[in-house]
Amino acid sequence: MLIKNCQLFDSESKTNTDIRIDNGKIVEIGSAGKELKALNDETVFDAAGLWLLPGFIDLHTHLRDLGQSAKEDVASGTKSAASGGYTTVVAMANTVPPIDNARIFSQLLQIIKEKAVVKVLPIACVTKGMAGSELTEMAILSELGAVGFSDDGLPVTNLAVMRRALEQAKALGSFIVSHPEDKDLSGTGAMNESAYATAKGLPGVPTASEAACIAREIEVVRMTGAALHFAHVSAAASVKLIERAKADGLPVTADTTPHHLTLTDSEVPGYNANYKMNPPLRSKKDQDLLVEALKNGTLDAIATDHAPHTNTEKEMGFIAAPCGIIGLETAFALCLERLSAESLPASSRMTVAEVVRKFTSDPARILGLAEPKIAVGATADLCLFDPDMTWTYEVNKATSKSNNSPFDGREIKGRTILTLCDGKVAYQFETATSRWLAIEGLALK
Ligand SMILES: [Zn+2]
Repeated sequence: MLIKNCQLFDSESKTNTDIRIDNGKIVEIGSAGKELKALNDETVFDAAGLWLLPGFIDLHTHLRDLGQSAKEDVASGTKSAASGGYTTVVAMANTVPPIDNARIFSQLLQIIKEKAVVKVLPIACVTKGMAGSELTEMAILSELGAVGFSDDGLPVTNLAVMRRALEQAKALGSFIVSHPEDKDLSGTGAMNESAYATAKGLPGVPTASEAACIAREIEVVRMTGAALHFAHVSAAASVKLIERAKADGLPVTADTTPHHLTLTDSEVPGYNANYKMNPPLRSKKDQDLLVEALKNGTLDAIATDHAPHTNTEKEMGFIAAPCGIIGLETAFALCLERLSAESLPASSRMTVAEVVRKFTSDPARILGLAEPKIAVGATADLCLFDPDMTWTYEVNKATSKSNNSPFDGREIKGRTILTLCDGKVAYQFETATSRWLAIEGLALK
């Protein structure tokens, strides 16, 4: 396959080039004076005006296989990922039943092998049944391919258990993903504890619920020296703790989500449960610090926390509805617009290349994967992105099985046009079809 006229990001500048893909790898890259000519029978894609980016990596996806296929499954979830430009997703383990033993893990691997259109790296549970007391057989699960361990959805509240889990993960060269939350402080809270919650008569979740858990767990990292990743960081107080832990040289990493970067508690319309997630949308002040923390590296990556739920569940009322929203399809475009906005101060504004790294090389580093890059010999996990296309996100036309997005109806700038995983088309937008060119005697535009 030959991709013509795509724009590459060489550090901060853009260059126009052609690249050739064969057998799942990038085999040739053109240069200023060297245009690549199509070979006999080669498929040609005209990428004029499109950015060529490494495929995105999501650290936090709920694919819902096993057991909750009304919400999502490996096929629909990975299609949704591909439509957002992702070529790798990390699948969380809080399924039904949870991924807490070798038999279930192997069952999931089989489904992934049969159904996934992008790469899926499964996480296994820290504790059996996510009950927080007895560790899973982490060594066996690691051997089978668990990329890391997490009881996400729940914190591991017993710190002695967390300590043993971290020691075990360290011995295995693996890591743990923390869902940082103090369940007692969260209580029955449904949105951020604030005047907005009070005005709606809704119980609040204080930011201390997240920060207090992070503070405790940082001390266990200090004791064990083991790698701990904090998922979906939402609060300014948490950022400050992580900043200090990193300054102390501790092996902690952290991500935040597209929705925490683009929405605040003041924007929750009425009792629309598609704005209900855990942690909840926070204040503008919290959000501004998240943006700054991404820029200065305190927050390492952006992860979706893609959490599909059925319409029936989300229509149960704001308090009763489950937490979580879908996000794979809209993540990159929303974050690019938010994080590179001209209106941001220099201490927060990111270049396109910096935003791309939060979706590619930073999550890869946390996962211990090779750095994704566009180079000869690299795996052809790629996303072609149209930065100028303006479109309206219509969630019921999207590929996820679920519709629980607060961004439904939103006008978005930029979208994924083509996603290649191992050199194969994992997704193409309707406008991509006219870009495939028959080669013989056909001049490129
Ligand atoms: Zn979580």
